[in-house]
Amino acid sequence: MNFGVSTIYVIVVLLINIFLAFLLLIKRKDATRLSLVGLIVSISIWLITNDQVDLSDTVARALIWSRLVMIGPILIALMLLYFSLFFTRRKISGRTIALIAIPSALLLLFVATNQFVESVTIETWGINFSYGFLYYAFGAYFALYAVMAFTILISSYAHSQGIYKLQLRYVFLGLIFSAILASFSNIFLPIVGIQQFYYVGPFSVLIFLSFTTYAIVRHRLLDIRIIIVKSLVYFILIVFVAGSFAGITFLTGILFTETLGLGQFLTSGLVALIVVLLLDPIKNYVSRATDRIFFKAKIDYNAVLQELSSAMAELIEMDPLLESVARITREELKVESVLTIPRNRQGNYRSRVNRPPHDTSLVFSKDSELIKYLTSGQMSVTDSLERKIEDTTNPRERKRLEASRDDMQRAHAAVAAPIMRKGELTGVLFVGPKRSGDSFTLDELRMFKVLGPQLATALERARLFDEVKAFTEQLQQRVEAATKELRERNAYLIALQDVTALITRSFDFEKITQQIADAIANELGFLGGLLVFVDEDGRHVFPQAITQTPLIEKALKLLPKPFNEFKGDLYKEDTLDHRAIREGKRLVATKFSDVISPPVPKLIANGIQKLMGIRSIVLVPIFSEEKVVGAVDFALAKPENEITDREYEIMQALADQTGIAYRNWKYVERIREANRELEDANERLTQLDQAKTEFVSIASHQLRTPMTGIAGYLSMMVGGDFGKMSADHAKILKQLLDESQRMIRLINLFLNVSKIEAGKFELTFQPTQLEDVVEGEISELRKIAEKKGLALAFTRPKPGLPAVQADGDKLKDVILNLVDNAIKYTEKGSISVSMQKVDTRVLVSVKDTGIGIEPDEAKHLFQKFVRASGIAQIHPDGSGLGLFIAKKIVEAHGGSIWVESDGQNKGSTFYFAIPVKQQKSSVIAS
Ligand code: ADP
Repeated sequence: MNFGVSTIYVIVVLLINIFLAFLLLIKRKDATRLSLVGLIVSISIWLITNDQVDLSDTVARALIWSRLVMIGPILIALMLLYFSLFFTRRKISGRTIALIAIPSALLLLFVATNQFVESVTIETWGINFSYGFLYYAFGAYFALYAVMAFTILISSYAHSQGIYKLQLRYVFLGLIFSAILASFSNIFLPIVGIQQFYYVGPFSVLIFLSFTTYAIVRHRLLDIRIIIVKSLVYFILIVFVAGSFAGITFLTGILFTETLGLGQFLTSGLVALIVVLLLDPIKNYVSRATDRIFFKAKIDYNAVLQELSSAMAELIEMDPLLESVARITREELKVESVLTIPRNRQGNYRSRVNRPPHDTSLVFSKDSELIKYLTSGQMSVTDSLERKIEDTTNPRERKRLEASRDDMQRAHAAVAAPIMRKGELTGVLFVGPKRSGDSFTLDELRMFKVLGPQLATALERARLFDEVKAFTEQLQQRVEAATKELRERNAYLIALQDVTALITRSFDFEKITQQIADAIANELGFLGGLLVFVDEDGRHVFPQAITQTPLIEKALKLLPKPFNEFKGDLYKEDTLDHRAIREGKRLVATKFSDVISPPVPKLIANGIQKLMGIRSIVLVPIFSEEKVVGAVDFALAKPENEITDREYEIMQALADQTGIAYRNWKYVERIREANRELEDANERLTQLDQAKTEFVSIASHQLRTPMTGIAGYLSMMVGGDFGKMSADHAKILKQLLDESQRMIRLINLFLNVSKIEAGKFELTFQPTQLEDVVEGEISELRKIAEKKGLALAFTRPKPGLPAVQADGDKLKDVILNLVDNAIKYTEKGSISVSMQKVDTRVLVSVKDTGIGIEPDEAKHLFQKFVRASGIAQIHPDGSGLGLFIAKKIVEAHGGSIWVESDGQNKGSTFYFAIPVKQQKSSVIAS
């Protein structure tokens, strides 16, 4: 080994390389790091051997070193390819790794032969090599491996993102700097004749190695732009300083060729002073200029935050809010996607957005690793997750981290920021990778942190609003449904009311049934309906009414005869209609022919169904007094499964109403029948009555005239007008006279009654002093009373009574009857008659101490032929007509007559009252 000045430089580079290798291997030894260390070692070997070639002083030495110098490049190519493969995380097998190394191994085997470097000569300008054929093979090998390595790196860069892309960028940047510097020092400068910078070439490799090592070792890289800009500023400053010195030295060299020492010293000092003074302003200027160029798209985070805040303040609904936050963040931060997922009621986190790359199937359970991590309030960043996964040695920790990473990938997120409210995770903000592929800067991450609480408040508000809105909508829906139901029910009720009104108004069964049939279409809105009833015989069914619409009229024309001529036999034909009636059950049919065929031919039934568009038929039996009397068939345009309960209800109600109408009709029929019978009977009775009245009248007249004659003669004989008779004869004659007088009275009663009934009993009113009438009659009757040993008293009222408008003769009969009865029905005691004026009437009372009257009989005694029970045995000669006539007469005067008695043997008092003022005349009719 030889040592020269250059060796010191090589040693420095080697030391740096050792430091870099140490940095790489201190923490971990993975394939990427090892391959990079391999590259560093290869470069070091090359540097050392290269230096030895330069220092060779003999041909033999030069030949050995110039052959050994090939080892470095062979390994460099191999390691570069390895590095590119490992660094870009290609999945490669051990076999491939070994395969790649075969050409390198072969080359290494022959490195010391003359197939590489044949010979060397030492010339004045340096060492001259003559190469063997393997050298060219090596050239091809190197070029191939280098191209492959770069291709791998470049293609990988296109697909990479986040921190990985940034790492690649550092690698490239290092490469470019190295290449520029090396080509400057080792190609351009030698061309213009400046040789002394040749040693910069190998040194430039250090730039690449340093950049790459830094990229791999550092976890979070600085924004690469900052490095570029800072480097650029200092580069320009160096150029400025170096240029200034070079220019001034050159100028002074021309101006003061003879002046040495002091002059040059002064100029240099002046230049240094100028440079020091100008350095800072120039640096500022350059910085400003580069800032303008490189950070033109620099984001004003405050402005973004402000825009987000105002959007969050404005929007109150959840989805527009989420959409707006996503849009602003996406556009302002130039990221691929933004997604905010609020926590739902189950405590999980489900996406509500369907915007690629996200959809609503994206959901994170509260137990997922990512959510558990975010709940701690920390942000999750994919890049640092990857780092942690690489760094961790704990397999369980690795599993957890990988689960989190997978969660992040599902959300296409580079950053997941927690949205916390009162210590709870109420949502997650997922931010996708930047479109530029850059990593997020600390400023941006800080912004997400600031955004969190604001977003939490907005989300909470939106959630409340959504809840209120959902509640309101629900309420509205319910109200609408209820209103619709009510409206429907109301329509039905009105329809039903019309039918009910009709039923109660009319007894015309034909008309009612027709209107019910029409209501099925008009009021209820069905296609139509048919009302059938069971005959009196309980066996035959006949159609009573069918809805009249133009369509049905058309359908009826298909029938061979009028519809109401189709009679069915309940027990012969098993149609659904008949079954509904027989079983008293509601049935639903889908084929019309099932309902009416036979008797209606099947083909025709099908034709009608088609023509009318009938999809279902509901058959509801009609009940009347717990018996099925018929059925209502409803034809509907919808299938059975669409018929609502309400519709069934209304059909039932209509059938029930029809039943009521039927019952009413039957009642009315019965009443009419009974009425007709009664009228006939009445007619016959009237005729009989008339015949009887006539008979009584004729008989009485015919009897009375001879009777009056007989009585007259008897009276004369008893009075001795025809000479004296023996006492026996006289006694008999007296009896005959009494009997005939009784008969005349009876006949008179009969006559009066028949007159009353014939409407010929006339009264003539004139002013009458009633006390005179009473007094006259009393004096007549007193004799009879005394004969029976009874006292008959009459006290004339004082002062006198007003005259009444009355028929005195008829009232005389009344008094006669009452006093006569009193005498007749009193065995001992007395009878007293009194009169008085009460209000506007004159009241007459006849009081006796006789047999009395049972209270329940008192009222009936004024009826025709009525006598007290058991009286006929004691007094067989009564007629039961006296009080009847008396009542008629008193009532004809506008008065009233009644009796009061405390019961049997307690005596009785008969009263009658006549009003003072009277109409002129009147006729009594029965
Ligand atoms: P008659 O006296 O001929 O039977 P009336 O019409 O005068 O017919 O009387 C009907 C009945 O009223 C009598 O049969 C008798 O039973 C009853 N009656 C009438 N006046 C009296 C009376 N003063 N006391 C008891 N019963 C009386």
